[in-house]
Amino acid sequence: MRSKRSGLRTVGLLGGMSWQSTQTYYRLLNEGVAHRRGGTHSAPLILHSFDFRQIEAFQENGDWAAAGACLGAAAAGLEQAGAEAIIIATNTMHRLADDVSRAVSIPLLHIVDATAQAIMHSDARASLLLATAYTMQQDFYKVPLQDYLKPQGGTLFTPEPGEQKIIHQIIYEELCCGTVRDESRRLYLDIIDAAVRRHGCDSVILGCTEIGLLIAQHDTELKVFDTTWLHCQQALQFICERV
Ligand code: GLU
Repeated sequence: MRSKRSGLRTVGLLGGMSWQSTQTYYRLLNEGVAHRRGGTHSAPLILHSFDFRQIEAFQENGDWAAAGACLGAAAAGLEQAGAEAIIIATNTMHRLADDVSRAVSIPLLHIVDATAQAIMHSDARASLLLATAYTMQQDFYKVPLQDYLKPQGGTLFTPEPGEQKIIHQIIYEELCCGTVRDESRRLYLDIIDAAVRRHGCDSVILGCTEIGLLIAQHDTELKVFDTTWLHCQQALQFICERV
């Protein structure tokens, strides 16, 4: 609830997907509020943190209906606890954004909106999407993103199937478990280089909230759009907005 003293709004996080990136959200949101408001200010947050193995099992079984019910119930709990907006701290589970929105009466701050705005305000015209296989292969993320980018001549590219397999495996077997390996960074950078040769990509979207643990702007000459960071900027705007 908005505290009369701080004037900050409370955001509810659906996190733990995985907790490695939820830590980043927690840090960026708190750092962002401290930077904007100064002193001892920090972000008013309510966290529902899932056991990621349960979420991963829903994904593997294609049981999106059960996952949607689970995320929807958690979002309703966050609203009841005082959240004034919801963020789903993962790209992949935005597949269930409609289920979450339907379960609450507060806004959902959608990661595709935040990402698309940043790309549209840049010179990027050919963006490579690195993400889980679900996000790279299904329509729930690519279609709305492409709809944003198309009118200004932007195109979205995904890696080749074999490359997608490597990216997906590294996310689930390493990054979601807190393992960050130089060899894996090299594999990602090779995939980025191949997309430059193949499609002339000028930018890369870190479309999985853990990839920022592995790849940063200083690793590549391409413009990097880190969805975790962008999503947090969107949430910070909501938290700090004077209404
Ligand atoms: N956090 C990841 C994402 O942004 C992957 C884990 C998950 O499936 O939620 O897509």
